[in-house]
Amino acid sequence: MAMPALDAEKLKENALTSIRLGIEDFQRSRLPLEQSGDPARALSAIRNLFAGVLLLFKYKIATSVDDPDDAATLIFNPPEVLPQADGNGGVAWNPVGKFKRTTIDVATIKKRFEGFDIDMDWTTIEKLQECRNHLEHLHPANTLGEVADFVAELFPILRGFIQTQMNEQPAELLGAAWPIMLEHHTFLMDTRAECITAWDDAGVPDLMQPWLEECQCEECGSSLLRPHAEDIEEGMGVERYDEKFRYVCVACGYSDLIGPLMIKNLEDAYDYDPRDGGEPGVETCNECQRDTFVIGEQHCLWCRAELDYPECTVCEEPLRQEDQFNGGLCGYHNHVYEKMMRDD
Ligand SMILES: [Zn+2]
Ligand SMILES: [Zn+2]
Ligand SMILES: [Zn+2]
Repeated sequence: MAMPALDAEKLKENALTSIRLGIEDFQRSRLPLEQSGDPARALSAIRNLFAGVLLLFKYKIATSVDDPDDAATLIFNPPEVLPQADGNGGVAWNPVGKFKRTTIDVATIKKRFEGFDIDMDWTTIEKLQECRNHLEHLHPANTLGEVADFVAELFPILRGFIQTQMNEQPAELLGAAWPIMLEHHTFLMDTRAECITAWDDAGVPDLMQPWLEECQCEECGSSLLRPHAEDIEEGMGVERYDEKFRYVCVACGYSDLIGPLMIKNLEDAYDYDPRDGGEPGVETCNECQRDTFVIGEQHCLWCRAELDYPECTVCEEPLRQEDQFNGGLCGYHNHVYEKMMRDD
């Protein structure tokens, strides 16, 4: 079958060039303007780094087989396989057309890795891909913090892959890009650990903790948020003072309320579209009036309020906050009960 030619060494070379350019872009995006800094380079940093990593993955796949023709069948998109009548009342599935000139995408790389028993942390890769796509739509100035997170998250993936799957030393392979990534990763992880510890004294409701961890600076997208020192000194706690307590972004210095940001993360996670028949998963809590009552879990993540009557005493259907005034009956059985009382 005719196929585009594949040069595995070229793949590797392109991968390394792409990563090197990505790190250069990253550095330029972070410099102050007067030192020829350019925030607009943040997006090309992400594009180059992500593309570079995918090229390394393809290199690994291509070098997992001995024959270059076999390698090409793994890297280029295969022809579509379509059913055709076999002339005897049966069906034959045949490839239609040739291998394409385009190479495989993330989803197919994942399948190839599975087929060749190559381990990979796909949860992180997919998260990085999502981040990449999401950043395409933002103004570069609003992405610097998130880009810094991206580079730090990519680092352990790249390090592990080069060491275990390519049997090479990252410092040798990546040259000058390596110490920059290493230093950045160390700084970010240390700062993140400090931020997490700092929130221990801020009185965040326990059940809201996972939604605190999702918070990103509203100005630059960084995950490096600390509780505001003044609000800690005032002795305020987030649980009671959610309309006053502020976070500070370590990356850009921006400051705003942490409570509404946590609640927004919770709501985004339960996002739904009524046009698709979706229903809300979170509603306003009758006790504390915050939008933190998780309907499916029958409790409030902020004030821990629970239902007096979790299910209908007749049909055992789970009840909601709005059913609590029926003395433990669902809407239907409450109606039946009232009708019976009237008819007596
Ligand atoms: Zn920020
Ligand atoms: Zn509540
Ligand atoms: Zn019922």
